[in-house]
Amino acid sequence: MSVQGSLDQQWARVRGRLKDEVGETAYRSWLKPLTVGSLDGGQLRILVPTRFMRDWIRTHYADRIRALFSGENPGVQTVEIVVASAARPDNTPPANDMPAVTTPVQAAPKPEPVTELVIEPSPSLVVVEDRTDEMSAPLDPRFTFENFVVGKPNELAFAAARRVADAQAVPFNPLFLYGGVGLGKTHLMHAIAWAIRKKDPSRRVIYLSAEKFMYQFIRALRFKDTMAFKEQFRSVDVLMIDDVQFISGKDSTQEEFFHTFNALVDQNRQVIISADKSPSDLEGMEERLRSRLGWGLVADIHPTTYELRLGILGQKADRIGAKVPPKVLEFLAHKITSNVRELEGALNRIVAHAELVGRAITLESAQDVLHDLLRASNRRVTIEEIQKKVAEHFNIRLADMSSARRARAVARPRQVAMYLAKQLTQRSLPEIGRKFGDRDHTTVMHAVRKVDELCGTDPAFAEDVELLRRMLEG
Ligand code: ADP
Ligand code: MG
Repeated sequence: MSVQGSLDQQWARVRGRLKDEVGETAYRSWLKPLTVGSLDGGQLRILVPTRFMRDWIRTHYADRIRALFSGENPGVQTVEIVVASAARPDNTPPANDMPAVTTPVQAAPKPEPVTELVIEPSPSLVVVEDRTDEMSAPLDPRFTFENFVVGKPNELAFAAARRVADAQAVPFNPLFLYGGVGLGKTHLMHAIAWAIRKKDPSRRVIYLSAEKFMYQFIRALRFKDTMAFKEQFRSVDVLMIDDVQFISGKDSTQEEFFHTFNALVDQNRQVIISADKSPSDLEGMEERLRSRLGWGLVADIHPTTYELRLGILGQKADRIGAKVPPKVLEFLAHKITSNVRELEGALNRIVAHAELVGRAITLESAQDVLHDLLRASNRRVTIEEIQKKVAEHFNIRLADMSSARRARAVARPRQVAMYLAKQLTQRSLPEIGRKFGDRDHTTVMHAVRKVDELCGTDPAFAEDVELLRRMLEG
């Protein structure tokens, strides 16, 4: 067998192991798109489609890939993660290849070109005689499955949505998606509609907000046209009603909704509902409707995690072709935790500003631009928070902040945390020492000096410390 052939086989086994280790979701987001390149003098090249993925894989998975791969093939000594179409050996420091903001990311072919999407409404939604166009709200072309970043908080909702879109027969009815504002409910519903349309344009899909449903219904009442209104809905294949909490307390609309809903479910048509609460928590909703809504699959979307926020930012930056240094993405993912809409808004502001002034995006410029946004979350920092952030950042256990371990891998982060505690809080050296496993104040003093000194000699280290300081301070 050819060398490449056996490398591919080894890679397949390594990927299998990685998948078991990291789980399906992380595997799909990060590891599945990787391919194996050449093995040259002990250095194995792993190819990734985008720059962002390269950085992420380097920090999160490269060591593990190397360990597993050298288990398969002792000839593998080091692993280099390379952007697929980069012709040059990709070891130039990122600072050098991050010039103007507007330059498209050439070295990063996007895995799912957005342009492939057919945006024209399919006939099923514009047939005028049956007035479906009046019924269905327009779909956002960006809200596709391809553009949806999957992570722990939304993997169930995503899987359920995909299932509904792909299934031949109705898998569960209704699909009830719920979660806080800005977490992707509407995005998933549109994605389902796009996917169904693409696969089978003859299926009739109606998407509308509960408010619009209500409005249509009231209008039909006024024009004494409720029969036609009912027929409209009862002849669709897939009905999606977004933000159904809006019809809480509106009794006649609820009643109508309930009948429509039952009729569709009885005919085995797919119904998809979203709300900001679970069915049982929907106040002002009739009991029989509440319980009916919970009959199918109820999938909740949890608040985002840091990892998911970073993934979304990376995808979004790649998609708009903006060069945003990974540090800035990390900074945003740490600071803007409310919801994805705000996160996207912040990224857009930074990119727009950089384009306007014609300068590259930096941590400083990002912080400037988002000044008002960040001030809202500004407050006093505690030593515990510092320890937590620093431990997260360096990927060590929080307990090691106060443990007796002296290995460099934990001692250095601990020193950084002590340093930041000195800088960012009013605590005295002995107080800080006590919080770090009852260490002496001279240990803290030593840490402060050591970190100062390293910042002067090691720019990468200095940048890390600076990033942490900014994240903690806002
Ligand atoms: P909701 O309907 O839950 O209030 P939306 O679906 O409108 O939230 O999402 C708000 C914004 O965040 C949209 O621009 C959407 O594309 C984006 N978004 C939310 N979740 C994700 C995700 N997992 N991946 C990519 N974009 C997301
Ligand atoms: Mg919504």
